[in-house]
Parts: sequence; structure tokens; C-alpha cells
Amino acid sequence: MQASVTPFDLPLLASSLTALSGVGPVTAKRLAARGIKTWGDGLFFLPARFQDRRTPTPIEALEEGRLAVVRGRVVSGGLLGRKGKVFRLILEDDTGRLGCLWFRFKRAHLESFKPGDELFAVSEVSLGNQGEAQMIHPELYRAAEVGPDHASVGRIVPVYPEVEGVGAATVRRFMGELIQRSAGEIPDPLAGMLPRDLYPLAAGEALRRAHQPPHDARDQDLDPEQALWRQALAINELLYFELGLVLKRRRREASPAQDLNPPGKLLAGLLDALPFKFTPGQNEAVALIQSDLAQRHPMGRLLCGDVGTGKTVVAAAAACLAVEAGAQVAVMAPTEVLARQHLATLSRYLEPLGANVALAVGGGNGADQAARQAAAGGGAQVLVGTHALLGQKLSFANLGLVIIDEQHRFGVHQRLALAAKAKSPHLLVLSATPIPRTLALALAGHLEISDLPQRPNGPHKVATMVLEFEHRKAAVDELAAVLKRGEQAYVICPLVEASDKIEAQDAVATARNLARYFPEHRVELLHGRMDGPEQQEVLARFRKGECQVLVATTVVEVGVDVPEATLMIVLGAERFGLSQLHQLRGRVGRGAKPGRCILVAGPNPGDLAQQRLAVLAKTVDGREIAEADLHLRGPGEAVGRRQSGLPPFRVARWERDAELVPRLRECIATWLEQDPELASGKLAPIKNEAIRRWGRRLGLVGSG
Ligand code: ADP
Ligand code: MG
Repeated sequence: MQASVTPFDLPLLASSLTALSGVGPVTAKRLAARGIKTWGDGLFFLPARFQDRRTPTPIEALEEGRLAVVRGRVVSGGLLGRKGKVFRLILEDDTGRLGCLWFRFKRAHLESFKPGDELFAVSEVSLGNQGEAQMIHPELYRAAEVGPDHASVGRIVPVYPEVEGVGAATVRRFMGELIQRSAGEIPDPLAGMLPRDLYPLAAGEALRRAHQPPHDARDQDLDPEQALWRQALAINELLYFELGLVLKRRRREASPAQDLNPPGKLLAGLLDALPFKFTPGQNEAVALIQSDLAQRHPMGRLLCGDVGTGKTVVAAAAACLAVEAGAQVAVMAPTEVLARQHLATLSRYLEPLGANVALAVGGGNGADQAARQAAAGGGAQVLVGTHALLGQKLSFANLGLVIIDEQHRFGVHQRLALAAKAKSPHLLVLSATPIPRTLALALAGHLEISDLPQRPNGPHKVATMVLEFEHRKAAVDELAAVLKRGEQAYVICPLVEASDKIEAQDAVATARNLARYFPEHRVELLHGRMDGPEQQEVLARFRKGECQVLVATTVVEVGVDVPEATLMIVLGAERFGLSQLHQLRGRVGRGAKPGRCILVAGPNPGDLAQQRLAVLAKTVDGREIAEADLHLRGPGEAVGRRQSGLPPFRVARWERDAELVPRLRECIATWLEQDPELASGKLAPIKNEAIRRWGRRLGLVGSG
């Protein structure tokens, strides 16, 4: 994967945390387990909240449940009760007395506080038996030792998320040192270059305030959701990303491409042969693609449409145009199952029109010999395949159009590798995730987006239900009912085989159990570790109805089309991303009969997971689901994010910050107007920073 880029262009930030006092190898290891390895990581390990310890509270004004600092004199101290298991220290100030209690303690330590000693006690306030304020296990500091720079008293104290095995005080201490030693050094070319309300603080200052709010901070500054520093850090991330996209788009528009502008006989032939008419969305998309392909710079178009909106035939239309213009087309799918299915569909559409469609799949070494000859010799006009298309040995006689059916995976690297096989081919990306409005805003700088809003056959008919783990038997009953009606079902598991690391249902055991439970039916197994031909045989039997239950991993997630299948059961459903589940559900209810989807949660799904699953029960609208996926974060977050193609920001969040993106784009446009190459003393550092952060990921550097 991509090498990590330090968040700011400051070599110091690549230093290991062990360069800070108090961080030894053990602590460093525990931090690393949380993904915090370098100073740069540390800077973005932001406090979850703050404690306002600026001013002591008079004892009589203490409120239950609130953190307070009390400054008082020791009245007495000693063990309570006959068993002496509790130590109590009584403090007083001018307004009253406060009992502090310890149930676990080092006696010598507590006994070192003598009557008359001035102390600060810090803790949440609770109520004693008589309703009096008290503190349990407070932190104690001798007043004489509390100077203006004290780490824990007389200031706002950051509360960091817990790190297993590393004490809160340790974290606070080394983070303090980290900020001290680095925040002032952080370069920020954006400072002063954006409107103040958009970018209120320079990066170094924003980070300093994020960790160490100034003494005069307002309440708003102490709310990590509202603080100015949060906005500044988010804008800092978004601006460079958007600039990267703009640079990428400019680069594409500046590079020459073959214009593919045929009379359109093949396309007309395709339309004639189709048993249906295009939806308005399909018509519009094809018209736009046609005009894109006629340009002398490469098309970059993202075709978004929910499952079943008919993207494949739009891709076929694009292929017709390219083939008629004498260019080759590469169609890349994420799995072999899907590649083979596309091969079947595209052959059916295109071969009657005289185009030769070939398959390129194969193991790690890339495509097989036949595919390589077909591509290099120009024997195939359309080459359909998996990542085998990327293999080094595969070259094209004249590749003009690249179509990537990556569904919801935006694998920029792979896309680039394929694009590199021609000077600059036209690019059409098919995405099954209807693009959330927020993400569309962000990506608009980069790709043109076409939507297929309508499903040709009306709304998707699939009822969805979420089952708790305890009630999973109900899913088996439903399966029995479906089989009795002569229909077919999918059962999806998170794992292929049992693992000691992850506790989740595995496909192998599930298939075995179901086969035993339904002896008169054929239950088969399909997963990514089986080889291609074997997968094909299983799928063929399922398609023909010889097998009734297909127990699978997510290899069937995309594209598999078996109209007789009416039931989709997903086990350990919370382990999947929302859009992934939506795709899986898209496998049923494709024929005349309505479909049913049962999402069975694992034993301990957690609240968030339940909320996420509830979204699917509520709606079949892919766009709504994509939006919800952005808003709800959870165990599947990493996966979900990868699927939605959102870059991993540290602070920015699309669902709340995307609104600001159009303003950022305006600023960028103004810069480009003033200085098209962004070469001036003020703009060059901004451009360089965008390239430093995003150049590799967006293919702005090297061959791309
Ligand atoms: P997806 O967008 O999920 O890839 P497909 O391209 O697989 O969808 O199309 C789903 C089904 O709808 C296919 O069987 C296809 O033949 C059919 N289809 C596509 N466009 C239309 C249309 N305009 N009218 C009727 N059926 C269509
Ligand atoms: Mg499809």
C-alpha cells in the first residue's frame, strides 16, 4: 500500500515517539498498536474532551457529577471504621468541609498529608450518605508545588482516548512535550491564503490549541466538535486533497488522447438488438460518453447507479463506440466470477455486431498466453478480465477505452496501472454505490459523474429483516420455507474457515451444518480460495437450480445474477460494510418473485452495528444507505471507507465538512486564474504540499 506521508512537510514529524521522554520501548509498542508511531501520528492523536481545571470551586458550591478542583487545608486524615479499609482525608476551605475517600491506597502516601497542609484535590464530585459532597480517589497536589505551569492544576487539561497499558498521566506528559517541541515548527503555506472564517488558524497553532487550549479558551474551543482548531485542521486536509484532484483533472485534460468519434453504426446495432429501451438515465449517460470520447483528451467519467440500474449495457454502448473507431477496450472487474459474467453479457451484446470479446484472467503472473496474444495482436477488440489485465506481460495493440467495474471500490492505483497501458485511454468507471451528495461534491473536481437514477424494472422488491444472534433459528426456518417452495437461497459468511483470531461464522462449517440439516437439498460452497473453474462449476449448478443453497463469502457480492434466488441470509452481518450488505441484498429479488434478506447479527454486535443494520431494514435506496454509511462510523468503518473510496483523513469528515468544499474549490480556482502554474512564491509551496501529500495516491507524480 501507500507509504504513509507525514501530515506536514517537517522531517521532525517522522521521528519515533521514543524520542520523547517517558516513552520507552514498551509504551511505544502499545502506542504503535493504536497506530501512533511517529510524532506526526501523535499530533493527530487528539483529545476526546477537556477538563476545565482553571479555577478551584468553593466547597459549598460543588455539584454532583462534575469534575472540580478544590483548594483546601487538611483538617484530619485516617482510617475509617473498625476494619480500616477506607482512608478518609477531610479538607476545608472558607465555605465548608469536604471528605475525600480512598478504598485502595498507599497508606504512607496518604499519611504524609498533615493537618494544616494546603492541597489541591481534583476529582468528579459524588454524594455521601448524608447527601454531602465528597471525592473518591481524587488526585492530590501540594499547593506549594503547583506553579503556573503545573500539568494538572490551574489549566485546561486534555483527556486523551484511552490507550491500553499506557496511563493517562503518561500520555498527557509526552503529548505535552511533543506539542512543545513541534507545534511551533510546523510550516503552513495556507496561512493567510484563505478567508479567515474558513481557515481561522494556521496549522501549528491549531494543533497547539487542540492539545493545549489557551487559558482564556471559550466553551466552544473546548468542544472538539465546535472548536476553531478542528475546522482549521479539517480545511487543511480537504484543501490539499481538492487541490490534488484539480491538478489531476488538469493533467488529464492537458494530455492528448485518441478521439473516438465513429458514425455510430455499432451502437445503433446494439440498440436495435436489445429487448428493451434505454431508461432516460442510460440515454443521457451514453450521450455524454459519446461526446467525451469524441474529445482529444481522455474521458474520466464515473457512472453511478444502484444495483440493477443497468450499467453493463451502458458500458457495452461505450465499447461499441470505441470498437467502431478502431480502438481496443479493456473491461476490468474486481472478481473472476464477475469478469466471466461480463464476458458472457458483453459477448452476447457485441459479438453479433462483429466485435471479438476475450477473457483475461489468471493467477499472480497475469493473463494467460491466449489473452496476451489477443490483446497484443489486436485479435480481440474487447478484453474482459480481472486484475490479470494489469500483468506486465499484457500489452495492447491499441487500447483506447478502459472500463472499470469496480462497483464500490475506487482502487486508484490499479486504475492507473491499467491506464498506463496506453498513452492516455478514455476511462469509464462503473460504481454501484450511488454517490452520496457529499462525496459527489468532493469528487466533482476530479471525475465527471453520471447518475443512473432509475431502475428499469421499478423499485427493488426485497424485504429486509435484522435478527439478533439468539433468534438465528428463524433464519433457518425461513430457509426451509424457501426450499419447500422450490426457490433458492444464498447464505453469506464473514469467513471462509474458522479462525482463532476472529470469532465469526465460517462458510466451511456453515455449509457442512446446513447440508446435514437439509439432507434432501444440495448445499454448495463458494469462496475466493477456490480456483476459477471450480467457482464457475458451482455457480453454474446454482444457476441451473441443481444446487439450492449457496454458502459463500462475499465473492458473490457483486454482479452475480441468478433470478430464481429469493433469499439472502447474511451471518455476522455487522462485520460487513453497509454498501457491501446492500450489494449482497441486490442478489435477490431480481426475478419475478420478491426477495427477502435476513441479516443475522453476531453474538456481540454493539449498538452502532445495530443502528447500521437498521438502516438496511428501513430502506432499499442505495443513496440513502451510502449517506448513512458516511454518518455512522463503526467496526466496519475501515472497510466501509475503503469501499466508498474516501481518503483516510485524520480530522476532516465528509459528512460534516463536504459543505465547505465548494468554497475551497472557489479559492483554488482564484489561485489558478491568478497564476495558472501555481508557480509564485506563495502558491508554489501550496502546490508542492498537495503533491507531497497526494501525488502518489492520485498519480500526479511518476508515470500516470
Ligand atoms: P447493474 O447496474 O447492477 O450492473 P445490470 O447492468 O446487470 O445492472 O442490469 C440489470 C438487469 O437489467 C439486466 O438483466 C439488464 O439486462 C436489465 N436492463 C438494463 N437496462 C434495462 C432497461 N433499460 N430496461 C429493461 N431492462 C434493463
Ligand atoms: Mg453490474
